[in-house]
Amino acid sequence: MKPLEWCFKKSIWVYHVNAGSCNGCDIEILDALTPYYDVERFGIRLVHTPRHADALLVTGPVTRQVRERLVRLYESTPDPKLVIAVGACATGGGIWHNTYATLGGLENVLPVNIYIPGCPPRPEAILYGVAQALGLVPGVVAKQEFAESLSAEV
Ligand code: SF4
Repeated sequence: MKPLEWCFKKSIWVYHVNAGSCNGCDIEILDALTPYYDVERFGIRLVHTPRHADALLVTGPVTRQVRERLVRLYESTPDPKLVIAVGACATGGGIWHNTYATLGGLENVLPVNIYIPGCPPRPEAILYGVAQALGLVPGVVAKQEFAESLSAEV
């Protein structure tokens, strides 16, 4: 079992942080959290304080202004914790990677566990990234293959 699977077997509570994003990625995260995508069926739930979170979902290239607050949020999140970079800006700075006002992506400030690229990534991509990290995807695929093999035998 992967360490992440072991730590977050049942559910993962996330805290959403905008670190200088244009809001595009944030809208996709909110979309992923709506009943249409129903992430709570995977145990993924939005919380209102980092102290209750297992993971930080961070968007944006990390502006100089937000750096200190971001580090404080990270330190307020209990261990073990995941840091998930959502969008091209968070994964590597995006089009802001070499501007004076930003720090060129999340990994220059915090240790990142999962990168979800895209400008912005679709809600399906965000769900897939988190599900991959939790080890949910191989399980779902295995069950599907099992179901298909059963129906082929009938
Ligand atoms: S990746 Fe694209 S949508 Fe997301 S914050 Fe950057 S510019 Fe905006």
